[in-house]
Amino acid sequence: MIHIAKPLIGDEEKQAVMEVLDSGIIAQGPRVAAFEAAFAAMCGTKYAIATTSGTTALHVALLAHGIGEGDEVITSSFTFIASANSVLFTGAKPVFVDIEPDTFNLDPAKIEAAITPRTKAIMPVHLFGLPTNMEALEAIAKKHNLIVIEDACQSHGAVFGGQVVGSFGTGCFSLYPTKNITSGEGGMITTNDEALAESCKVIRQHGMRRRYYHDELGFNFRMTDIHAAIGLAQLHKLGKFNAARRQNAAFLNEHLQGVGVPVEPAGSQHVYHQYTIRVKDGQRDALLQHLTDKGVGSGVYYPVPVHQQTYYTEELGYNQSLPVTEQAALEVLSLPVHPALSAGDLETIVDAVNSFFAA
Ligand SMILES: *Cc1c(COP(=O)(O)O)cnc(C)c1O
Repeated sequence: MIHIAKPLIGDEEKQAVMEVLDSGIIAQGPRVAAFEAAFAAMCGTKYAIATTSGTTALHVALLAHGIGEGDEVITSSFTFIASANSVLFTGAKPVFVDIEPDTFNLDPAKIEAAITPRTKAIMPVHLFGLPTNMEALEAIAKKHNLIVIEDACQSHGAVFGGQVVGSFGTGCFSLYPTKNITSGEGGMITTNDEALAESCKVIRQHGMRRRYYHDELGFNFRMTDIHAAIGLAQLHKLGKFNAARRQNAAFLNEHLQGVGVPVEPAGSQHVYHQYTIRVKDGQRDALLQHLTDKGVGSGVYYPVPVHQQTYYTEELGYNQSLPVTEQAALEVLSLPVHPALSAGDLETIVDAVNSFFAA
């Protein structure tokens, strides 16, 4: 079976973990600081703050920006649930705007209609590794004086207009094992704002500025040095990993027939967290079954948009129509694109997809 994702853990990660275990400092310590510095350098930001997950990175970033009860945050419904749930954790309300059909990202042309006096922030989700149109989004944010928090959980190292994602607004990354790099579990916040970085650190550590003096409510969202050691070793390989993903994607683009392949707008660099095709005419689920029979793993990201999830409809009363998002949920299928694929694996994937349409 060719799996849809495969974390690549080598001797560097193993040795780095052993060094931490031998060092006697296991919780948040010097490795976390080193990982943060290297991550900030990768994004081109002044600061990076490590947390326990992408979810807690988003949660902390929103809180550090003062977002809470009574506020609205504009985001995408075509995403992993954590994007929107992190807004709920703060007491604020996620407001969903439809996506562009080709990029699967927020459609900037539809954002302004969703802005109200309560809107505090826009949270673009750079889905599948492709940056949102940040030029258009930043112009809207500036005009309406809105905070930008990037959900970059799937787009480590992706570029828009020569700039790495996570450096446009406050960046939030996940280090879950299926992501482009992993620390086991983990998250990272990136920013150029010193006060915001400080606030994130305080929220991460029980609202504590001075040891055992707590001026505000915080959490324990600290990363361990064990996780940071893995993450740092992985970060050194990010360029290589992303280049392999891009090369695999180029091969698939060239050889797949009968399906809509991913786009890469001029000036953007897609890092292919997922290689997501569109399958028309209700054939998506049959193709998925066909691929499974041929030993090719694939996945539907995401079958149910957030605004149609039961918790959102039943408990929160969401009842809106987002036609482009809903259509995408019916047609998308992600194929393996990860760096562990061999040339033979890529041939197998192409043959499996093309044989479905040839039949
Ligand atoms: C993975 C992911 C998250 C959450 O990250 P975790 O590390 O799993 O908490 C948030 N948003 C998006 C778009 C993701 O893909």
